[in-house]
Amino acid sequence: MQLISIVVPCYNEQEVLPLFYKEINKVMAQIKDKHPDTEFELLFINDGSKDNTLNELRELALKDKCVRYISFSRNFGKEAGMYAGLQNAKGDYVVIMDADLQHPPAFIPQMYEYVLSGEYDCATTRRVSRKGESKIRSWFSRQFYKIMNKISQTEIVDGAQDFRFMTRKMVDAILSMKEYNRFSKGIFSWVGFRTKYIPYENVERAAGNTTWSFKSLFKYSLEGIFAFSTAPLAISSFLGILSFIISLIMIIVTVIKWLAFGDPVQGYTTTICIILMMGGLQLFCIGILGQYLSKTYLESKKRPIYLIHETEEDAHKNQNDLSQSYKD
Ligand code: UDP
Ligand code: MG
Repeated sequence: MQLISIVVPCYNEQEVLPLFYKEINKVMAQIKDKHPDTEFELLFINDGSKDNTLNELRELALKDKCVRYISFSRNFGKEAGMYAGLQNAKGDYVVIMDADLQHPPAFIPQMYEYVLSGEYDCATTRRVSRKGESKIRSWFSRQFYKIMNKISQTEIVDGAQDFRFMTRKMVDAILSMKEYNRFSKGIFSWVGFRTKYIPYENVERAAGNTTWSFKSLFKYSLEGIFAFSTAPLAISSFLGILSFIISLIMIIVTVIKWLAFGDPVQGYTTTICIILMMGGLQLFCIGILGQYLSKTYLESKKRPIYLIHETEEDAHKNQNDLSQSYKD
């Protein structure tokens, strides 16, 4: 028997959950038809939703025994959700996907075949278009991938997504990376393994709203850079050396000018400009240092990546207690 765990991080997804559940069931039935020895486990991660998501998950878990859920004590972010899912999934294979049907479940059978063939350890989709996304946003995304791939040893494919079908080996490799500042796109590619990229057109969210504002995406991309590259540190050293050379040239020029013309007073504006520029540069470089320091600070605290408030076991227990008290 082969168990496939499907991990789904959910944050305020009450509207799409029923749609998702319906779609994923179709796909699971389809796979079971072809491979009767496959079992499924649906593992939802409720990332501190403020709507009715948790109640929906409780209901699903009570009526369908292949549904499990983990509910966080607050919103920890999608990265934490994915980590919790991978940590708690029991499957021989693990799928990570969004709840909003932007990661079409219909790809799963195809992904399974790729992995079963033994040629790949992971199958994932890659967006080849960004239909439904604003032009500016797409442009910034593209620039991010360009910069990232230039300055980091870890290559991240443009349009790569978190929608992944992985073998247990790869999941264990990912779990061995216990860092607090998690940037999954980088982690997936850092661990290596043979990955099949399936190109597809972007799909819009089935219902509900995205929680990613432009600002949060920008912050996330910086996280990625600081987590997977030390190039910004090198940039600050480079700027330091560059400004040192410029100042050296200026000193020589000034001394020669003074010797030739004996005119030391002029150059007030230049002085102010240089002081301002040097001050700015220094602050900029300290800022970069600070970014790495703050990451190190958070890592060194070794805080848990997520905290669990409730799981499907609690839901089953509560129901048993209830039926017990009815009998009494
Ligand atoms: N999500 C989450 N925690 C968060 C934000 C998002 O678990 O703090 C989940 C969300 O429920 C969805 C997935 O991450 O299943 C992707 O989120 P969203 O659709 O908002 O992002 P987008 O598709 O716009 O990148
Ligand atoms: Mg989405």
